[in-house]
Amino acid sequence: MRDIHHLIDGRLVAGASGRASPVFNPATGERTGAVSLASAAEVDAAVASAQAAFEEWGSASMARRTTLMFAFRNLVVDNAAEIARRLTAEHGKVRADAMGEVARAVDNIEFACGLAEHLKGGHNETASTGIDVYTVRRPLGVVAGITPFNFPAMVPMWMVPNAVACGNTFVLKPSERDPSAPLFMAELFQEAGFPPGVLSVVNGDKAAVDRLLEHPDVKAASFVGSTPVARYVYATGTSHGKRVQALGGAKNHMVVLPDADIDLAADSAVSAAYGSAGERCMAISVVAAVGDVADPLVEAIKLRMEKLVIGDGAEAASDMGPLITREHRDRVAGYVGSAAEQGATVVVDGREARFDGDGFFLGVSLLDHVTVDMDAYRDEIFGPVLSVVRCDTYGEAVQLIADNPWGNGAAIFTRDGGAARQFQEDADAGMVGINVPIPVPVGYHSFGGWKDSLFGDTTMYGPEGIRFYTRPKAITSRWPDPATSKVNLGFPTNE
Ligand code: NAD
Repeated sequence: MRDIHHLIDGRLVAGASGRASPVFNPATGERTGAVSLASAAEVDAAVASAQAAFEEWGSASMARRTTLMFAFRNLVVDNAAEIARRLTAEHGKVRADAMGEVARAVDNIEFACGLAEHLKGGHNETASTGIDVYTVRRPLGVVAGITPFNFPAMVPMWMVPNAVACGNTFVLKPSERDPSAPLFMAELFQEAGFPPGVLSVVNGDKAAVDRLLEHPDVKAASFVGSTPVARYVYATGTSHGKRVQALGGAKNHMVVLPDADIDLAADSAVSAAYGSAGERCMAISVVAAVGDVADPLVEAIKLRMEKLVIGDGAEAASDMGPLITREHRDRVAGYVGSAAEQGATVVVDGREARFDGDGFFLGVSLLDHVTVDMDAYRDEIFGPVLSVVRCDTYGEAVQLIADNPWGNGAAIFTRDGGAARQFQEDADAGMVGINVPIPVPVGYHSFGGWKDSLFGDTTMYGPEGIRFYTRPKAITSRWPDPATSKVNLGFPTNE
């Protein structure tokens, strides 16, 4: 059993609140650690260190910031396997998913390495005679980040690199379920040479989050997690005068038109619905099968599901690992039962899969003839359950997406360019995939959904991230007429 500490002012420090939360290996059910849960006083210590560090970091040269960011990027690349090992050990995802997560984290760090380009302001000379006007982007100060369990290495990197590149200092509150990977990355950040206090990590729960949201020295908060907590964080943070971006949950639809490549659509549905045990905010949760594509598509998905190997993510053969906790596994399984009771056809029942040991495993499930009034359709399941809703027309499928309270991602599978282009306009979601099931934008575009998937007006990372972590300062300048200068500029005189 390991004690998992905080990282405050550049040093690992043991928790002092007397409160801790268990950390499990979900593949074995074994309790492997205890993570300290910070008190308000411990949060205050991290914020004080960040505030002190901001005095210097806020005006550090771009050259220095860039050099340190490259050093951090290289350390993360060199330690990718160890970060991935920690992800698998506490989250359960298989090695390929864990390495993919690290690659996505690196993508965001690399974007931040280009900070000199991102922070270029605008300049107009001679706005009026002798008057120049220019805008620079200044950091905010101390920024907080609160992150979910499902991407413990990547989501903090949606925030920290850009915030720090812009000259802010950062206090991260990772998920208490799998805190070791983000803590290790913060140690690498320290090793890269950033001054103490530029990035601190406080582990914790609601108590730590609440203190960050009300602390007068915290100027902004970035949140990623479930919709109810996102809504709460947005309302609480903004009521304390902070800038807040809060990304919430999702229910992503994949529309399959009758002309789609069935093999591509089925492969995509399986990887996007069951990858990382469906615990992805961009996972495909609903296939909207249009017209006569439904029967062959359901059959093709079912055939592929039979080949999936479910097991310990640390085993090379595993395609899918366990769920994050026993309680979550049971909750997800409950949706298969309720869907059957409410009239859906259970094509594949993941509850029937048998596993040795006490890991939090659940087999993959496929539900057909799902309707919008069923619990499995209405709620975010966040597990390996895929629902098929049969639609007569494209318009019906698009309406499903429009009527859904979430709007993170939406995808279409078709060979028809006109239909795809129409969908990109019609889809009521922040990120759209065309023959791509999980359209997570690269680090130089920004990530964020619509409706209940995002509270606030700025999406995360990429150019929007730079905007969120800076405030503009516009400068209007006038200098005396050169002809009146005391320095001899070579102008003709009257003498
Ligand atoms: P969660 O909302 O339970 O927790 C997220 C963070 O909030 C954690 O750090 C947690 O400690 C903290 N928290 C939990 N309850 C709180 C409370 N009452 N008050 C204050 N803070 C609280 O989410 P999770 O279960 O860790 O992650 C899964 C959820 O995150 C899913 O809904 C998923 O869709 C969503 N998610 C969304 C995105 C996105 O980009 N939109 C990305 C990843 C995950």
